[in-house]
Amino acid sequence: MSLPCVILKAKRAQPFYARHPWVFAGAVDRIEGKPTDGDEVELHSQANHFIARGLFNSQSKIRVRLYSWREDQKLDEGFWYQKLEEAISFRESLGLRGPELGCRLVFSEADGLSGLSIDEYAGYLAVQITALGIGLRRQLLLEYLVKRLEPRGIYFRTEKGVGDLEGLQIQDELVYGVAPSVDHFIREGSLKLFLNLAEGQKTGYYLDQRDNRQAAAKYCRGKSVLDAFSYTGGFGLHAAAQGARNVECVDVSQAALDLAKRNVEANGLDHFTFVKQDVFRYLTEQVEKQRRFEVVMLDPPKFARSRSAVAEALKGYRRLYTMGVRLLESGGILVVSCCSGLIVLNDLIELIAQVAAQERRDIQILEQRGAAPDHPTSATCLETTYLKCLICRVK
Ligand code: SAH
Repeated sequence: MSLPCVILKAKRAQPFYARHPWVFAGAVDRIEGKPTDGDEVELHSQANHFIARGLFNSQSKIRVRLYSWREDQKLDEGFWYQKLEEAISFRESLGLRGPELGCRLVFSEADGLSGLSIDEYAGYLAVQITALGIGLRRQLLLEYLVKRLEPRGIYFRTEKGVGDLEGLQIQDELVYGVAPSVDHFIREGSLKLFLNLAEGQKTGYYLDQRDNRQAAAKYCRGKSVLDAFSYTGGFGLHAAAQGARNVECVDVSQAALDLAKRNVEANGLDHFTFVKQDVFRYLTEQVEKQRRFEVVMLDPPKFARSRSAVAEALKGYRRLYTMGVRLLESGGILVVSCCSGLIVLNDLIELIAQVAAQERRDIQILEQRGAAPDHPTSATCLETTYLKCLICRVK
C-alpha cells in the first residue's frame, strides 16, 4: 500500500534535498491520500520525485517533519529504535553515560529525531516531546528506553506552548518507575550536584553548559566571582572548586538558590553569597555602589523567542554586558552565554565590540565556545545551534 504523499510547490524542494527536516505549510502544494495527524507520509517534488519520509501534522505550521531521506526506509518501529540506539551509543562512546552522570542522550533535529529530546540524570530520564508524531509514538519509544537503559524512573517534561503549536497534549509527570529521592544527584567534573528533575527548569539542569562551566572555572583561581543567573549554582560551584576566593550567586528563583546552597555544602565549599533578585536591578545597584569583581558570569535565559523579538533582546544583552564590564577590575574575566538561537555568534561578538568602544575598554576574546558535544548542531538544520559562550578579558 502506498503512503500518502505531500507534494511541494514548484521551486520549493531545495531545502529538503538539502536535508532540512521542517516542511512548512506554505511550501506544500497538495496532498495525495488522506493522512491523519501523526501518520507517515512521503514528501515529493512538484515533478513527483521522492525526496524524503516524514510525519504529517495538519495542526502544526510544520506540516511535515522529515526523518529519512531513503525511499526504502519505512518509519517503523525498527527505524525509531535504530535512531535512538545511534544517538545513545554515540554518547556512550564519548564517556558521557554513567551511573552518576548527566547527559543529553537525544537532541531532536541534531540527532535526526525532530521533536524528541532525552536527558539522563544518574539513572533517571527526562523526556521532552515537542512534535505530535513523536507524541503518538511515545509508548513505543518508552519501551525501548526501558529495555535499553533500565532507568529507575522516566519523566515527561513539557515546554510551554507546544500544546498549541502541535495539538499535542502531554503533561509533566512520572510515566515510568519511581521518583528520585531528594538526595538524587549527578556528578559533573569533580562536583556532586543535587537537582530537581520533576520541577526544575528545563529538564532539571542545564547540561549543555557542562564544558563551559569547567572552562570558565580555570580563570577563577583566587578571584572574586559574580555568577549572575546562577540557577542551581553551576558556574559558581565550578569556580569555587577551582579556588575562587568568593562567589556571589544571583537569581530570581528561591528554589534554584536553595539547591545552589545545598550544592555548596555537599561539596564542602565556602565563601558563597546568595542574592534573590532581578539581575538587571542587582547589577545596576552594584555599579552605583562602584563594586568590583574579578570575574563576572552572565548566563541569562533566552531573550529572543521570535525574529520580531531579536532587536529588543540585543538591547537586553547589551545592557547586561555593559554593566558586567563596568563591574570588572582591569584584567577581569567576563563570561557571557547566550542561548537565543536567533542570535548568532557574530552578533554576540559585535555586541562585545560595541560595549568595548562605548566603555573605552580593551576586550580580548579568549574562548569562543558552544554547547557540549551531547548537544550537537546538525549541519543541515542550523536551528539546532543555540548556545554560545564567550570568555573575554576586559582591560
Ligand atoms: N547558569 C545556570 C543556568 C542559568 S538559566 C547554570 O549553569 O545552571 C537562567 C536562570 O536565570 C534561571 O535560573 C532563572 O531563574 C534566572 N532568571 C531569569 N530571569 C532572571 C532575572 N531577570 N533576574 C535574575 N534571574 C533570572
